[in-house]
Amino acid sequence: MEPVRVLNSGYDMHDVKFERYYSRAFFTSVSMPSSGVTNEGSDTRKRKRKRVYNLNEKEVLAENRHQEVRSVILKAHEAFQATVAPSLRNYITFDGRDDCVPSPSKSCSSMQNLGIEEGEVNFVELAALWQAPLYEFSFSKGQVDCEEEESRTTPMFNTIIKSSSRTSEVAECGACKYLLPKSCTFLISDISEVHRLIPVGDSKDGFNLMVIDPPWENKSVHRKSLYPTLPNKYLLSLPVKQLAHADGALVALWITNREKLRHFAETELFPAWGVKMAAVWYWLKVTVEGTMVSPLDLAHHKPYECLLLGYLPSKIGSTSEESVQFTGSREHADLPDKFVLISIPGDHSRKPPLKSLLSKHIPGQRHAERGLELFARELSAGWTSWGNEPLRFQHLNYFRER
Ligand code: SAM
Repeated sequence: MEPVRVLNSGYDMHDVKFERYYSRAFFTSVSMPSSGVTNEGSDTRKRKRKRVYNLNEKEVLAENRHQEVRSVILKAHEAFQATVAPSLRNYITFDGRDDCVPSPSKSCSSMQNLGIEEGEVNFVELAALWQAPLYEFSFSKGQVDCEEEESRTTPMFNTIIKSSSRTSEVAECGACKYLLPKSCTFLISDISEVHRLIPVGDSKDGFNLMVIDPPWENKSVHRKSLYPTLPNKYLLSLPVKQLAHADGALVALWITNREKLRHFAETELFPAWGVKMAAVWYWLKVTVEGTMVSPLDLAHHKPYECLLLGYLPSKIGSTSEESVQFTGSREHADLPDKFVLISIPGDHSRKPPLKSLLSKHIPGQRHAERGLELFARELSAGWTSWGNEPLRFQHLNYFRER
């Protein structure tokens, strides 16, 4: 998958800038391992591998899981190298304009600044200010400078904002301009306000496809202060069941490679949400040369991440919250297990857009897709996006005019 091209389908007059989507490290690196399974790597990793120690119980389980999927990943990667990898560079093009050339110096300052460049908004910090309720978006349809169209304003936080426009639209907050894809809806709020998205009355207004990428507690995220994280108990209270469509929903949950998390997701989180496990997919991250971003068999660092997929069965009986009943799960034999999705990872741990891959597996095919992304940092055409910074990557700086 080439994520930028997928995202671009949501816009009619703009394209996502490759150099803002992809980590500049991929364009400036000179020595990546030639194969994902070699023992070549950085000095640090070589040193780490030489240390012999006994794996603890969780590490043994994680290693067993890795061994189960290793051959599937290798096979997918081999097929990718034989077909797509040789032309990978052609997918990622710079059009020769000055602002298209990746600059290592710019990259350093933006990394220190969490990638939020001058003039862009840090929504998480803004929401904590006492003035937060006073911030507003104003919209003007179509082009940024279109003055004839009627404009409207709406509070920035804790308000469901809908752009029913069939073309992309620009929202302004002071000097900041945000590009909204076609027919999108979003809510910028803390988790305590996510219930605002629960359909009132008819759960046919609910969502039949949900993608969830929680801010798992994680040392690396804490160290880099990438974003605030949430203890697992908060995730247990996400109203996934109440957000679901009456005819059920496909739920996709991103998890890290920690065995403790995988166990929690499978034995506590999915059951608490009423989700029945259906499949596991793997996102294999590759460099622009097509090699894996790190050797496949390192104990604590894998070049892939897992996506757990499950179904919320259809609801029957009364629609009142207390008496919602769930029937047994429908069979969804067409959802592949151990599917491997391969792409170059975006900057700031951005996940690849899953909409087109998942929409064919939603339950009740007669229904149009009603997609929801929880903990989103970008918007998606036709979908609802929620989180404390769903406009993070929508600033006009991330786009260029077509
Ligand atoms: N899927 C996203 C992407 O590909 O760019 C990454 C999501 S990131 C793992 C988790 C997000 O949850 C971050 O944007 C973080 O700020 C947000 N978050 C953390 N605590 C939150 C809270 N209490 N309420 C709402 N969102 C929160």
